[in-house]
Amino acid sequence: MTKRYKLTRRQPKSTTCSKEGCDAPKMEKHKLCEQHYEAWKAEYQASYYLAHQEKAKEYQKTYNLTYKKKQHRGPARNAVKEQRPEKRDTFTIIDIRDMTGDKLARNLDRILKGERALTV
Ligand SMILES: [Zn+2]
Repeated sequence: MTKRYKLTRRQPKSTTCSKEGCDAPKMEKHKLCEQHYEAWKAEYQASYYLAHQEKAKEYQKTYNLTYKKKQHRGPARNAVKEQRPEKRDTFTIIDIRDMTGDKLARNLDRILKGERALTV
């Protein structure tokens, strides 16, 4: 849809830079010449960066926590494993041997009920 102000424009559209005292031809789809546009863009980006700095840092932090896997240096065996230990549904003889009294009684009860299995 053509906007009304375009149809009723009194003066022809300017073809030069809108910056005062600059007669260079303006860029396509911008009202500034190439030089002034570069300067404006640099300024805009700097101010945008300053305005959104905290937000960007926060985003980077959460991104690293969710997607980045190698956060340690050196060989993989030095990596801190933050995963929870697997929940096993079997006990071995060694497990039984190492258990202390209270725990042993509780786990033997589980084995007898059939919640856990005993393997060799
Ligand atoms: Zn200019």
